[in-house]
Amino acid sequence: MEIESNSLAVPTHVTCPNCKEVINTYYQPEGHYFACDKYNCGTVFYSEKAHTEIVTRFKDKSPIEASLPLGTNAWFFGKEYTLVGYLEKYERNEKIRWIEYAFYYPGEQWYIILSEFDGNWMMVHHLTKEESPKTNFNKGATVIDLDNKKFKLAVSYTFDIEKAHGCFDWNLMKDEELHTREYYSLPYVLLSETMFQTTEWFEGRFVNPKDYIIKQPGQKLNLPRNRFFNPATFYDRYKKLIFVYAGFLLLLFLSYGFVSATHPTKEIYNFTNDVKPDTTGYGGFKTYISPPFNIEGTTIVSISGTAMGLNQSWLELSTSLINEKTGTTFEVEHNLEHYSGTSDGEYWSEGETTIKSNISSVPTGTYYLVVRPKVDTLIDGWSSIAYNIGVTQNELPMKDFWVFFWIPIVHFVVQSFRKNNYETKIWPSNT
Ligand SMILES: [Zn+2]
Repeated sequence: MEIESNSLAVPTHVTCPNCKEVINTYYQPEGHYFACDKYNCGTVFYSEKAHTEIVTRFKDKSPIEASLPLGTNAWFFGKEYTLVGYLEKYERNEKIRWIEYAFYYPGEQWYIILSEFDGNWMMVHHLTKEESPKTNFNKGATVIDLDNKKFKLAVSYTFDIEKAHGCFDWNLMKDEELHTREYYSLPYVLLSETMFQTTEWFEGRFVNPKDYIIKQPGQKLNLPRNRFFNPATFYDRYKKLIFVYAGFLLLLFLSYGFVSATHPTKEIYNFTNDVKPDTTGYGGFKTYISPPFNIEGTTIVSISGTAMGLNQSWLELSTSLINEKTGTTFEVEHNLEHYSGTSDGEYWSEGETTIKSNISSVPTGTYYLVVRPKVDTLIDGWSSIAYNIGVTQNELPMKDFWVFFWIPIVHFVVQSFRKNNYETKIWPSNT
């Protein structure tokens, strides 16, 4: 077979010595190890020219449920790689199972690996001696500095290869002798694989595999994704969130501070009055009209209504703020009530006796109030009820402040919870 070394991997075929079926694979000059995942076969074999020999047979002889077919092309670091084999690995202590997809590029010594675990995808590539961290393993490093990132040791394990399929240029079964350590600075991961005295370093990054895979005609890629947590995008956003929300809260405090310093809250008018019957013949209750007062606007005007002596009853206050010159009217309604009692030996009370309403932008001018009270005379008699009306300007609506204050904090706490939940899941024994 004549194939130029710089061309893409091309389809080729090899016959499995166990099940005698033809494996469709992709040519690599050094690819002499094959894995057959035909149903009930599960054979790894070596084949070079006329020499063929079985290396092992897996206990589990069912095919891998791979998300990507062999021959899938993907671009990594500006080169078009081809998927030539995949492996299912199992870490016995943590009962973690994942699939690694090996992408081959002619002339490159190392494969690029896409690793799939629980709907999360990581792209892993080999680091050269110069790129690798300078760490002496005998000292058992738990934190590694690389490229201005602090990687912390998360897990340390060996794995079994449970299933495989495709063509490999190394004896894949030898990988069971590797000792792997994973260091995290999410979304980045640093991996070391040690066999005897030799350590190779790899760098990984959680990714969206669709960013790398070239969609081929007729090839439908239905890649599983973790619906609840995507480390590929989460960690970058999480870091930004800290700055955005901290900046937002600072601005919130500054703007409220600035406004209350330059526009101090000022009481304009306040009075208390009894609810009296209207004796002019119209019935109902006496309307109160205030003397005129000035408002320096444009400003927020707060009108509070308070009921005094309210017991098992209600009081309605309809208040109009009227501009003396233009007749512009702002209306507020206060429905105050107070009920109490005991049920099952427990005292209860309900209703509000003070309510504050804000009018957002009142222009400068001379204003007066018209207040129309209304009480339920049938219950407790109107004569014992009094009301108070207070008018202030420049009072900042603190309700809005607390809404703006809590939204980012609550969101941030929820995100931190999701992050910790995810990290506990991927590193069950991590403490
Ligand atoms: Zn076979």
